[in-house]
Amino acid sequence: MSGPVRAAADRRNHSGVGTYFGNGTAIGPSGDFHSVVQTHLKPPAGPAPLEHRSLLGGEFWRTIPAYANVDERTFLDHIWQGRQSIKTPDELFATIGDVVDPTFLDDAREGFRRSPMAVRVSPYVVATIDWTRPYDDPIRRQFIPVASRMLPDHPRLTLDSLHEREDAPVQGLTHRYPDRALFLPLQTCPVYCRFCTRSYAIGPDTELVEKSALAKTPEHWQAAFDYIASREEIEDVVISGGDTYQLAPKNITLIGEALLAIPHVRRMRFATKGLAVMPMKILTDTAWVDALTGVVDKGRALGKDVVVHTHFNSPNEITEITRRAADVLFQRGITVRSQSVLIRGVNDDAHAMTLLVKRLSWINLHPYYVYLHDLVKGVEELRTTVQSAIDLEKSVRGMTAGFNTPTFVCDAPGGGGKRDVHSYEYYDRENGIAVYAAPSVKPGELFVYFDPIDALAPDAQARWAVPAVRDAMVHEAVVRAGGKAAALA
Ligand code: SF4
Repeated sequence: MSGPVRAAADRRNHSGVGTYFGNGTAIGPSGDFHSVVQTHLKPPAGPAPLEHRSLLGGEFWRTIPAYANVDERTFLDHIWQGRQSIKTPDELFATIGDVVDPTFLDDAREGFRRSPMAVRVSPYVVATIDWTRPYDDPIRRQFIPVASRMLPDHPRLTLDSLHEREDAPVQGLTHRYPDRALFLPLQTCPVYCRFCTRSYAIGPDTELVEKSALAKTPEHWQAAFDYIASREEIEDVVISGGDTYQLAPKNITLIGEALLAIPHVRRMRFATKGLAVMPMKILTDTAWVDALTGVVDKGRALGKDVVVHTHFNSPNEITEITRRAADVLFQRGITVRSQSVLIRGVNDDAHAMTLLVKRLSWINLHPYYVYLHDLVKGVEELRTTVQSAIDLEKSVRGMTAGFNTPTFVCDAPGGGGKRDVHSYEYYDRENGIAVYAAPSVKPGELFVYFDPIDALAPDAQARWAVPAVRDAMVHEAVVRAGGKAAALA
């Protein structure tokens, strides 16, 4: 051995213990060059990295006073879950009784009144909340508003920030991306999420918001099918709402078969948050699961891909009941992907987000997207910054296989569609202004996302308080982004 290899070996060998070259060869302390069989025994993982396998099980709901005598058969009945859902402060108080401090209940009563989104939570959701620390609980934060934690809306927020209605050629159908369409055949959900992007339309009217209509009638549905059939370029249809959990089995079949019959529709996704908030429906509503399976099987026979998209945000949403429900869908050959929203106090730390991703993967639900929280009315305290998404993505990537690693995206306000959070044209971190381009969706346009103002430094918060100053900041960011976009074009 001579030259650079020997020189390198000499340099590394001064400790007298030999050097391994990483290619199956090594040089010993005396300079002999030989082959080795390398064994790297990785130490056992220990309990912490396996935390994702530890799921809440048993009759956990019995800690809630109103469910103390509810047996498993009743708790797993999806009809009972729907009927017992909580919609008013009085129902909440009657259910959780003395387990929370009365000041929290007063706070929640005012939160219900000031929320733009109607409240509806299933007993399953109520039972997964830790009521000994309700302010911090990641599930409570998503569904039950408390007035004392609310922040003023961002001054640039609009009710339909994604402009879904502007991209709707017929009522209840959004056609934004060239090859995809979003069909919204109903306005109800098994629960109502405080952060819902579609709060302009979902659920009943509230004191603050009169809801827009989606495609509610068979005539609306037919108009949507006709439009999709008339547009040769549409290959992929998302059926959402509302939540397809709420569709009667006959309507799952009707919609599924109508879309499968359109030759150029190759892919369909039924969107439901149901697995996260009422997983027992998969165990006890056989007619619904059979209808879904029928559409999936028919699609497979036609060479078309029909899947379910669901929506988990907290690892605490995944229990033994969820695992059983996921197993049913897996056994039936139904692919399920999960989309998450990045929510402050829910999943915006590395531990919660990595645990969520690992837990989803453990039960065969594929983590697909993590969305930056949209600019939604009444939930400013739940939003995070673009930078936080970038930082979290680093924690997640590499932790598990790439196909189970979600892409972190910003659904660009104004209808730019989903952009990789890293792909901004310009990001003014100091003032919380990120500008994205979407050349394949809306060429030549720029889309601006705003970090929550309370996450900025005090001097930046002061600038946002002055309308003329904030207009100038936004204008400058767009000009800088435009300059970069033009240079790249
Ligand atoms: S389930 Fe989906 S559509 Fe319904 S309120 Fe939640 S986020 Fe909105």
